[in-house]
Amino acid sequence: MINLLDFDLPGLTRYFAEIGEKPFRAKQVLRWIHQKGASDFEQMTDLAKSLRENLTQRAEIVAPKIRDEFRSDDGTVKWLIDTGAGNAVETVFIPEDDRGTLCVSSQVGCALACTFCSTGRQGFNRNLSVSEIIGQLWLANKALGRDPKGERIISNVVMMGMGEPLTNFDNVVTALNIMLDDHAYGLSRRRVTVSTSGVVPAMDRLAAACPVALAVSLHAPNDALRDVLVPINQKYPLAELMAACQRYLEVAPRDFITFEYVMLDGVNDSLSHAAQLIALTRDVPCKFNLIPFNPFPDSGYARSKPEAIRRFREALQEAGYVVTTRKTRGDDIDAACGQLAGQVHDKTKRKLHKEGVTL
Ligand code: SAH
Ligand code: SF4
Repeated sequence: MINLLDFDLPGLTRYFAEIGEKPFRAKQVLRWIHQKGASDFEQMTDLAKSLRENLTQRAEIVAPKIRDEFRSDDGTVKWLIDTGAGNAVETVFIPEDDRGTLCVSSQVGCALACTFCSTGRQGFNRNLSVSEIIGQLWLANKALGRDPKGERIISNVVMMGMGEPLTNFDNVVTALNIMLDDHAYGLSRRRVTVSTSGVVPAMDRLAAACPVALAVSLHAPNDALRDVLVPINQKYPLAELMAACQRYLEVAPRDFITFEYVMLDGVNDSLSHAAQLIALTRDVPCKFNLIPFNPFPDSGYARSKPEAIRRFREALQEAGYVVTTRKTRGDDIDAACGQLAGQVHDKTKRKLHKEGVTL
């Protein structure tokens, strides 16, 4: 059986041609699936009966299964999504005054092994398929329903759940296409954000394939420290990363990159780190998002003191940067950044990075 949740519009159009159906029907079917949440071809009453029968025989619309749902006191909702073979990933909905953001996972685990990240500690199992990625949005939309005006509750998507989206490039781009398509979710490019730890060649490919808003997980202002915190830095060091950010901005839907910076007590949060950061990013139009570290068992790190975060923020602001400090949301249900653990059977048999890091 072919799962139609795996197709964006060009893919579905090609598939319809292959099975002898009119390609333009693909738009109609995409609307049924993603706008009306249909999972049964019999619901698609404006399609010819012969098309419905043809599809019923060959195809299906199957989202992954929700294994569990957790609701935080602050309105945050976390779903544990079954990805088979004893594995699971997590999806988080974060309500705010002016928007509703869904944080979507792209892989079961992550191979990049950032030392302060719970997903990174677990190792890597596999990439999510398109239907598993877009299925998170499909399921969350169904679970949350619409607001009193009939608008969708989810207005923004961030690829900031488990996994490194740019190492699951093709599936992520197809899922992004579906998010942006007016026949599906119709989200604007500025409301869809890919967060990357800095996979430089894939940043250029994303710019060419599907430029959306880009967040880059910086976390350290020099290569020596970043090599340890974000090991992919050993392959793509900061000078290359900054150049890639500048190239991305030539096509980006926003005129800035968002730099994420996790605040680790005594590790990367001094005023001298702030000064290095200012020098590093001088030529990249950017905003900073400071993320107070969210602890998990045996992490070896602690969250920076509020005073240190305030000083760091002010140093950046005085240098002219726009800086936000991310509010910790959903920590009563372990749904905050970096706490998403799901259930991952590591296939990489990596050594755990146990030691804390100081520089
Ligand atoms: N792999 C991508 C996206 C997923 S992580 C990336 O690394 O960008 C989303 C954000 O949460 C990243 O900036 C990540 O570095 C940060 N993060 C990871 N672990 C964290 C933790 N324990 N506390 C706070 N932020 C964390
Ligand atoms: Fe992977 Fe991102 Fe976690 Fe690093 S921070 S291990 S890239 S999910």
